[in-house]
Amino acid sequence: MPSQTNPPREIHEQHHAFRETCALLRDQFRGDLLCPGEPGYEEARTIWNGMVARQPAVIARCSDVGDVCTAIKAANETRILTAIRCGGHSLAGFSTCDGGLVIDLSRMREITVDSEARRARAAGGCLLGSIDTATQRAGLVFPSGVVSHTGASGLILGGGTGWLTRRFGLSCDNVETYNLVTADGSIVRANAKENADLFWALRGGGGNFGVVTEFELKLHPLKSAVLAEGLTPESNFRSLLQFWRDFMPEAPFDLKWNLDLRLAPHKQKVPSPLRGCPAVGSSLVWTGAPEDARKYFERAFSFCLPDSVRSQHVSFLHLQTMADTDFPHGRRYYTKSGYFRNLDDGTIDRLLAAVATIPSPETQIELTYLGGIAGQVAADETAFGDRSAPFITNLLANWSDAADDALHISWIRSLFQKLRPAMTPGVYVNFMSGDEQDRVPEAYQQRWDRMVAVKSHYDPGNFFRLNQNIQPRTGV
Ligand SMILES: Cc1cc2nc3c(=O)[nH]c(=O)nc-3n(C[C@H](O)[C@H](O)[C@H](O)COP(=O)(O)OP(=O)(O)OC[C@H]3O[C@@H](n4cnc5c(N)ncnc54)[C@H](O)[C@@H]3O)c2cc1C
Repeated sequence: MPSQTNPPREIHEQHHAFRETCALLRDQFRGDLLCPGEPGYEEARTIWNGMVARQPAVIARCSDVGDVCTAIKAANETRILTAIRCGGHSLAGFSTCDGGLVIDLSRMREITVDSEARRARAAGGCLLGSIDTATQRAGLVFPSGVVSHTGASGLILGGGTGWLTRRFGLSCDNVETYNLVTADGSIVRANAKENADLFWALRGGGGNFGVVTEFELKLHPLKSAVLAEGLTPESNFRSLLQFWRDFMPEAPFDLKWNLDLRLAPHKQKVPSPLRGCPAVGSSLVWTGAPEDARKYFERAFSFCLPDSVRSQHVSFLHLQTMADTDFPHGRRYYTKSGYFRNLDDGTIDRLLAAVATIPSPETQIELTYLGGIAGQVAADETAFGDRSAPFITNLLANWSDAADDALHISWIRSLFQKLRPAMTPGVYVNFMSGDEQDRVPEAYQQRWDRMVAVKSHYDPGNFFRLNQNIQPRTGV
């Protein structure tokens, strides 16, 4: 189960901190304060992962930067446990807590686009969909994730991968300035010239350093793409994965080809012999000249069941929303993830054997290949770090019944243990669960000491601790 990273306070202590925090907030706070029993609280306390049902003492829905400062100062004074929330999609469940304060940014979704400069300013509560809709009006894109109801802040702060990563880089590679409120309530700008160490740490360091209230983003021109999808039956699994492994390192940057290993859904578009059977789904997105897509797609399709293959020209907004219904709010999710420098045959065999034992039709093993522009950024340039192990696997269990928690969690853990020896050390912090605190140093490796130094400077008391946490040095 995802766990909170600090020990729960005694109940009477929590109530005391809560009363004090509320008293401080009620004077100056201009947004909404929601407490248990009040209208709107029940809806506001839920986050995307249904496994994480917590009862914050107060949810402070900020209306502006001033409210964020007020909330942080009040929480500091009363030492109440504090969670930060943008879109609420933390797989680990970090954006809520029991008996504490949630600083909720969902009212702060302003976005302004400067089409000539190809720049945007996005407030800290924006969802990916808010950014996509605004930037597309100018025919521009910001490279982000693949589900539009994901929060932009959490995604960008961890790194941010999606359909355009190979073409334009990670989300964090496309942020020019972060405006944030730090643990002492100060407003700070971080970019290449101002607070450069903080800028470095924010590009992959998650929510460890402050509440980002505005991102200044670089945009790129793009309106549409070619999307191709197909399903490979069990008989062709091995040859498909071997081909994909050997092909992707040489693939053009315009091509993103993701695989998901799962039981084929019982949907009309799935050929009936495949429904409910192990299958590998290929999703290929081509952002170059449409006429050049064919030669890449044909090779991929040769491993697929012909009836399952389709390709179409789609708008960017279609691309960004097509998976929205596959990951609904409120279901139960558990994940483990890792990198491979090479996908050896043994790993391919282990992955393929696992598909046959998947315990839920919605559970999937996702395989993606990074590289492209994202792969050209040097390991020490950002906190996100080493991009030289380009194969990423994300094991994502997805089920609905709480009685089945142990079954699904243990399936993921057991598969991860089997894959782990061939993995390259490292992990993407946004694809981690809440029980992996011991892997946080692994996420940053050689960059760990520098991360701790930046954390110790900006958050010496570890105010921002509900995250993949970097603990500050004591006695700073
Ligand atoms: C359905 C789904 C699809 C996803 N797809 C992708 C994908 O395509 N690519 C990808 O890279 N990742 C993806 N992810 C992972 C995603 O990047 C993380 O779950 C991310 O944390 C979600 O951001 P959020 O703002 O919604 O999270 P929240 O739960 O709101 O916040 C998570 C954490 O981020 C920090 N945080 C949030 N907002 C702020 C802020 N303004 N300032 C400082 N810290 C903040 C806090 O530490 C908080 O605990 C996906 C997740 C889901 C659930």
